[in-house]
Parts: sequence; structure tokens; C-alpha cells
Amino acid sequence: MRIARFVAQGDPTYGVVELAEDAGPNPDTIAVVSGDPLAGPVHYTGERVNLADVRLVSPVIPRSKVLGIGRNYAEHAAERGVEVPETPLVFLKPNTAVIGPGEPIVYPAETSNLHYEGELAVVIGRICRRVPTERAADVIFGYTVANDITARDLQASDGQWARAKGFDSFCPLGPWISTHLELAEAGDLALTTTVNGEVRQDGNTSQMVHSIAELIAHVSSFTTLLPGDVILTGTPSGIGPLQVGDSVSVTIAGIGTLTNPVVAEEA
Ligand code: MG
Repeated sequence: MRIARFVAQGDPTYGVVELAEDAGPNPDTIAVVSGDPLAGPVHYTGERVNLADVRLVSPVIPRSKVLGIGRNYAEHAAERGVEVPETPLVFLKPNTAVIGPGEPIVYPAETSNLHYEGELAVVIGRICRRVPTERAADVIFGYTVANDITARDLQASDGQWARAKGFDSFCPLGPWISTHLELAEAGDLALTTTVNGEVRQDGNTSQMVHSIAELIAHVSSFTTLLPGDVILTGTPSGIGPLQVGDSVSVTIAGIGTLTNPVVAEEA
């Protein structure tokens, strides 16, 4: 199923998205559920809303952390002129960087080289530590689409990536969490990024150097993963700059499209 978080009126609510492409001639709808799907089984309230009538927000607010993986696609490492690391290169993004679909990416005054990075995001479903690769599927709640927004100049000048990857709005997630994909399916999905409709990244999650299962094993070897934690699995080649006024979309086949505008920071 596809779990979305949305605002119709009042507080954000969870729902199960039912797309016309699956269900026939009806419009895309959301079946409203009560409670937090990450905390337990979903209960349908019986209410149904049209997808077009609500505003989607990030399908998950990571309770403790967003873990990013650097240089996990060989062609991307090559375009940056760096080696593919033998063990996964891990960094953190603060959960305050998370925004939802349609929400603006704010171009900070401190950078003059803001980049998109389209990525598959893994949403963790269980508390876990030292997960062996063969158990990785058991701790995955689902998958969503991410844009690992990066201030490329600050990434180089700071050394540490906390600021370059961590500004508010630097972690768009959405449009929803797909919970039905098997691990093997998630490892073979077409991923494209467009800027103002022009294709900039055209990859496949099968090109990852370290697999989803290996990434979960690696990050859980040093940190406890909590339900709602998110792992960004790295970006394919084709990264490049964004400008104020751009619209950037990341599409992962079988999940959906995450679109965000880029806006100037208000003085
Ligand atoms: Mg990245």
C-alpha cells in the first residue's frame, strides 16, 4: 500500500492512497486511517477524500535521524572525481531539514552552488541494531522518494557535511511511502530527476554499489535505528545546480514523483 500524510483541514492525517491506475476509472483517492501507521496496524475510518483536494506533507517525520549515504553510485563518484568508498560513507541530516512534496526548497544566502540529488529513501519500521543483511527486509517499513539537497560549495569548504546537507528544507521526502515493494524490487527501480521538465538524472537503483540490505547492516552496526528513521541510499550520476525559480522533480518507478520549487530565502 501507499501511505500518505496529508492536510485537509487541521492537523496532518495519514491515509492509504488508491490510484486510478490501479483501481479503474475513479479519481485518485485517499482512504483515511486513524493513528500512526508506523506505530501499529492501520484502522480505516471509512472516510475517503480525493487526492486532488488535499495537500500532501512529508509521509514521515523521522523521529531521530536521516542517514545519508555518499558516493553509492560509481558513475556519480566518477563525475565528482572521487573514489567509491569500500565501506559505505555515512552522514547525517537533521530531521528539521525534512519537507514534503510541493513545499519550497529554500536557497540559502550562504551558498552559491545548490544541487539536487534524486535518491531512493528507505523508511525503517522497527527498532533494530546490528541487522544482518539477510534480515534487512524485516526492518523496512517502506520506500519513498528523496532529494538530498546539497550546498556543493559548503560541502567542500566545511569538510564536515552537516551544514552543506543540513539546512532547513534540504530533505524533501514523498509523495508517499510504498510498503508493498519487496527488497529485490526496490533494488531495481528506474530513477529520474528533472529540472523544469528537463531530464538531468536517469539511473536505476540496481546501480548502487552497496545494496539496500548492506546499507541497513552497515548503519545499524553503529547506531540503533528507530521506526521512522530514514536512510537515503545515494544518488546516480547527473547531479547539477538549482536556481531560484526552478521546479525539481524526482521520479522513482513504482513509487511516485516528488516535486519541489526552489525559492529565495526571505530577508
Ligand atoms: Mg546524496
